[in-house]
Amino acid sequence: MLGAIIGDIVGSRFEFGEAPKKDFTLFTDDCGYTDDTICTVAIADAILHERSYQESLRDWCHRYPRPMGGYGGRFQDWLESDDPHPYGSYGNGSAMRVSPVGWLFQDYHDVMNEAKASAACTHNSEEGITGAQCVATVIYWLRTCRINRDEVESAVQRNFHYSLPTIEEVMKIGRTGHFDATCSETVPMAVRCFLESENFEDAVRKAVLADGDTDTKGAITGSIAEAYFDIPDNITEKALSYLPKDMLEIIDEFIDTIGKE
Ligand SMILES: [Mg+2]
Repeated sequence: MLGAIIGDIVGSRFEFGEAPKKDFTLFTDDCGYTDDTICTVAIADAILHERSYQESLRDWCHRYPRPMGGYGGRFQDWLESDDPHPYGSYGNGSAMRVSPVGWLFQDYHDVMNEAKASAACTHNSEEGITGAQCVATVIYWLRTCRINRDEVESAVQRNFHYSLPTIEEVMKIGRTGHFDATCSETVPMAVRCFLESENFEDAVRKAVLADGDTDTKGAITGSIAEAYFDIPDNITEKALSYLPKDMLEIIDEFIDTIGKE
């Protein structure tokens, strides 16, 4: 969850801004949390307090109606509707918000079912659900050491039918100005960025350097990298300094629950 938030904040200034350059500064005054952080906090809150995913997502997004970068158009319509229904999205939003599921459930089937439920209130498409299930499951596998890093690529291929692009392909896609907005594009790219990384910071840097949907690719990659690498304290502290009090309270509760600190 922290990994997602850090990746989101680091990537935030490049989503609609200039392309990131090698050795870019991780945190500047132009960074901020975006919808990825808000929705991730909402999913954690739903699980920690037994709220429905839909109710928690709408509550948190209504509390923060105009985040940096805004919300996607159809998600915004869903937020504003008095009678919201899932709209078959296959966008990467289901994958960027799911990381708490990979930490707060202790059984593979629960992780799969809850990832699906967290997606389905908006992303009730096979692609949207698969993206969420893949990210939550990789987090669960890595944090419980059910598989090691060398096995991730084949496990992702076998279980979720994603074939991963090479890191060179990941970097090239962004340079064309292409904006990766779907689960089937962003999730395999994020997994590859993690697999090629030397540490947590390197994973997030690779994801953001790949350009395109920088905050969401940073969030998904960061959420996976957190399950394998330690996050340096100074990076966590800096990221948390961008967040309001009510989000910090959920994060504290999440950390207490998973017993990390
Ligand atoms: Mg965003």
